[in-house]
Amino acid sequence: MERVLNFGAGPAMLPPEVLVQAAAEMLDWHGSGLSVMEMAHRGEEFGTILAAAERDLRSLLGIPEHYHVLFLQGGATLQFAMVPLNLLRGGSGADCVLTGEWSRKAAQEAEKFGVVRVAASQAHEGLRRIPAQAQWRLDGGADYVHLCANETIAGVEFNWVPDTGAVPLVADMSSNFLSRSVDVARYGLIYAGAQKNVGPAGLTIVIVREDLVGHVRAGTATLLDYAAYARERSMVNTPPTFAIYIAGLVFQWLQRSGGVPGIEARNIEKAALAYGAIDASQGFYRSAVAPADRSRMNVPFTLANPALDAAFLAGARERGMVQLAGHRSVGGMRASLYNAMPVSGARRLSDYMRAFAARHG
Ligand SMILES: *Cc1c(COP(=O)(O)O)cnc(C)c1O
Repeated sequence: MERVLNFGAGPAMLPPEVLVQAAAEMLDWHGSGLSVMEMAHRGEEFGTILAAAERDLRSLLGIPEHYHVLFLQGGATLQFAMVPLNLLRGGSGADCVLTGEWSRKAAQEAEKFGVVRVAASQAHEGLRRIPAQAQWRLDGGADYVHLCANETIAGVEFNWVPDTGAVPLVADMSSNFLSRSVDVARYGLIYAGAQKNVGPAGLTIVIVREDLVGHVRAGTATLLDYAAYARERSMVNTPPTFAIYIAGLVFQWLQRSGGVPGIEARNIEKAALAYGAIDASQGFYRSAVAPADRSRMNVPFTLANPALDAAFLAGARERGMVQLAGHRSVGGMRASLYNAMPVSGARRLSDYMRAFAARHG
């Protein structure tokens, strides 16, 4: 069996070691005689799995004790609603920073629940970039500031943390979660859908400061209230047990891989390989992102001659590299280089890009 290198933006590739372990434990988890899928969610075995996943995630990110770690469902998209439902508390509303599709969608959804201001927005002409904080218009009375730490489609990533004073900072980290060191204490709330960098679709992780929980607007469904999950240790109802188990295996794999600093070093190396091929191509490949704001996780690029797109993708597939076509809204190419993509995979892509440009340039 030959595994391909999956450059898709999500659901994304998982470390083969994790899949092998899950396969070995599929019929009989640790002598229980059960698959994790068949376990009672409130039973002792699954309790062990859930507790280990939370403990390992806390240690990987150095999550302070006064933050809850919640395992939810509904994807990052449900957080676009849960964040305003739980955090809007009669202040002057939400300040949103718009840097691409995902932060825009989050702001649009929040508008259903309260006042949303655009605190900053990326320029529409020229290179895509993260607006410098000097250009932001923040309201000191806002209930929170929302940003998307890594725009999966636009390919722009924050490599700094804005100063929002006493106003809680909320970040959608779906596509760069656990890819780089994060000072959790700078944030009020962090959320991430699992299927980009953590595990299977169906699980969403929320890390939230304790004092921000317990203020959900009246009339909100229990399953949309962070406090219920915090109180019930993510078991308000049946949690996505198998997805949590796989996420836990990924956390263990990260610990064996040098933790977040170890994976971050490799992610820097991988991004340098991909952008290196773009920059060395003398315009054969183009990136629309300002170099300082280039995403390490998602590398969108176009071929100057789009008539070569199909040949580029076919050649990549022949070499075992799949899902390189860009998002349907922007076209071109996109190479996602999440944690599970090995350095050798990024090197194979970079070598192929250079050879393809030499042949067709
Ligand atoms: C994929 C993605 C989402 C949407 O995630 P779902 O789990 O499909 O709801 C939101 N934000 C970012 C940054 C993403 O990459």
